[in-house]
Amino acid sequence: MSRPPGHLHVPAAPDGDPARLPSPAAVGRPSRILVDLDAIAANHRAIADHVRVPVMAIVKANAYGHGLVPVTRHLEAAGATRLGVAFVEEGIALRQAGVTLPILVMGGIFGPQVAQFIVHDLELTVSSLSKLGQVEEAARTLGRRARVHLKIDTGMERIGVHAASAGALVEAAVRSPWCETVGVYSHLACADDPDSPMTALQLERFLEACAHFDRLGAPMPLRHLANSGGVLHFPGTWLDMVRPGILLYGVLPDPASRPVVALRPALSLVSQVVYFKVVRAGSTVGYGATWTAASDTRVVTVPVGYGDGWPRALSSRGEVLIRGRRHPLAGRVCMDQFMVDIGAHSAWNEDEVVLVGRQGPEAISVEDVARCAGTIPYEILVQLNERIPREYRGGADSAH
Ligand SMILES: *Cc1c(COP(=O)(O)O)cnc(C)c1O
Repeated sequence: MSRPPGHLHVPAAPDGDPARLPSPAAVGRPSRILVDLDAIAANHRAIADHVRVPVMAIVKANAYGHGLVPVTRHLEAAGATRLGVAFVEEGIALRQAGVTLPILVMGGIFGPQVAQFIVHDLELTVSSLSKLGQVEEAARTLGRRARVHLKIDTGMERIGVHAASAGALVEAAVRSPWCETVGVYSHLACADDPDSPMTALQLERFLEACAHFDRLGAPMPLRHLANSGGVLHFPGTWLDMVRPGILLYGVLPDPASRPVVALRPALSLVSQVVYFKVVRAGSTVGYGATWTAASDTRVVTVPVGYGDGWPRALSSRGEVLIRGRRHPLAGRVCMDQFMVDIGAHSAWNEDEVVLVGRQGPEAISVEDVARCAGTIPYEILVQLNERIPREYRGGADSAH
């Protein structure tokens, strides 16, 4: 094999003694998720410069697949001031990693978990009078005030008190000796679509709910409404703070999004050719024999599958880059591997395969993969699981 060594060069074992071999962890899989932490910090800064209000960086779902703790520590070092996650466990993981920024848990709360929020100094989402009561009771028991954001439902019908009946909740929160109301917020249902009339309606309902603070003569807490779509398309929704998630990672929420902020994609997914073969005309490839070679062709196998979160929906539809060219997947994506038809082109074992990212003149974006798989970029990112190691570039504390 006279190919130049790949990025994982395994030294020959001189005597077969396993102790002399590099550990499997050191060799790793040939597949890697490369995360450019500096791109995430640059995207955060670009968004902040664009909106000119504080940014709550959304790092739920393993920082959209990029790695919760490394991404958040880097954002904290880069000057982020607030964080948002979905579940209390995500907030606790960040506290245990030493993150000290304010963290809002945006999901609904369960009574038995409330004490966990308070002892870990996590901000709670309070969406009804009964939830407020649970928070007050836990805070009283612990002798510590809870920091809360009131959640107003303005059209998602998910969690949140309906805007029209928010008055009683606002009043109870303002009067509560055990709750400090840090924020009031809602969530946009249609902000990815710049032309949707839904957003203006939601903004109107939200501001009506916020007016209860003025009515009561109470200080206005942080009003926040805009997700990534709001940041891109609806300046009126920026208010006192924005909550971008997917934009931080350099990915647009929707093919119709207007890229009004310059962003850098932070994630690449690379692997290597593990097998090469010639497939004769008429032979079928993969489970179900769904793909048939029209003529003699060359097929390579790549060791990534739906068990890693690489969508099975890409079967015979997706593309990857090998030697700077796009090549189509042949047959079904298996749990641990998939096959690629490289036609008359050549490839060698250990050649780099780019599933997401750049190679030579070509690039495949997360948005491309999502379109091909018939889903949204969010789902592609978050389903990439821990079976593929993440490798971090940039940042003071880069780690493997
Ligand atoms: C996930 C989430 C966000 C971020 O959404 P993006 O579309 O990724 O910007 C903001 N707010 C809430 C309540 C969320 O659940």
